[in-house]
Amino acid sequence: MSHTIHHLLVLAIFIGMLFPAVSADISAVQELPRVHILATGGTIAGNANSSTDTVHYRPGEIGVDVLIDSVPEIRQYTRVTGEQVCNINSDDITPAIWLNLSRRINAVLADPGVEGVVVTHGTDTLEETAYFLNLAILSEKSVIITGSMRPATALSADGPMNLLNAVRLAASEDARGKGVLIALNGEINGARDTTKSNTQSVQTFSSPDLGLFGYVKDGKPMIYRTSARKNTLSSEFNLSSLTALPRVDIVMTYPGMDSVAMDAFSGRGSQGIVVAAMGNGEYPAVIQPALEAAALKGIPVVISSRTGSGITSVKDPRFISADTLTPQKARILLMLALTKTNNRDRIAGMFRNY
Ligand code: GLU
Repeated sequence: MSHTIHHLLVLAIFIGMLFPAVSADISAVQELPRVHILATGGTIAGNANSSTDTVHYRPGEIGVDVLIDSVPEIRQYTRVTGEQVCNINSDDITPAIWLNLSRRINAVLADPGVEGVVVTHGTDTLEETAYFLNLAILSEKSVIITGSMRPATALSADGPMNLLNAVRLAASEDARGKGVLIALNGEINGARDTTKSNTQSVQTFSSPDLGLFGYVKDGKPMIYRTSARKNTLSSEFNLSSLTALPRVDIVMTYPGMDSVAMDAFSGRGSQGIVVAAMGNGEYPAVIQPALEAAALKGIPVVISSRTGSGITSVKDPRFISADTLTPQKARILLMLALTKTNNRDRIAGMFRNY
């Protein structure tokens, strides 16, 4: 052993004897699980001019580093790193951002040193991004998505606790292999069945049909159930080489409607149509010819329900049932299905599996 190395070793042992707590702390930090946060904006990163304003604020203003530093408790539980994917109001999220985000998450999770990821997101379209990722992430590591209903500047802002809970969930073994999880307001919901259900309340995410997965209690995940539908590792969609997603539009049904929306979507080159039908898959007879024409041209027509829960029935065998998916979730699955096929029966099979 050279003299220099010997001296360094003696010095290290000496420091360890002098400051045992410090060296123990350093090794404890190194053992903490590593969680990577991908920030996209939303109210959790929003600023208002006053602490009582929860309406007229600017979403997507606070950067990921400030977001992390504003919850120092996170570093007690994880070695956290952050990355800004975009910083926008989630109403402006696009399929191009979904593709980019899913690629980044797949790359981050391929690092054996990373335990899981947290995505911060505006709540308006959080459910769509969550379901997209649920189908596009090819890993059993945890992917948690969170946001907030009150801006960071508000009294009783809900963002900090939501972020802490999401990071602790991402770091926990319990979240692995359960698909993408939505963690807000102390609850854990699955990506497939969860929807934003209230315009302003902090208790806005719910799975009205099939129920929540569990809770975060004092920072500890308590998970009781999962979804039996395919997701993440069991998903057949590999989007790594795609540059764009097929155009799929949603036709809202209402009394007195005509086929103007259907005609416009066809004119703009829609590759798939989701009908937000009435009740158990019904719609005004006036749109039947346009739906038939689409199916005849090889444009899949998926019938979902605007009721918000239940399995949607399909009376016309040329069309496809959305199963229990809401119109906005059915659109995502149809976009991904169309990256593989436009065959009616194959796509109908996907709606039974995912
Ligand atoms: N429209 C904003 C967004 O979705 C606010 C909703 C929220 O983040 O709570 O980004």
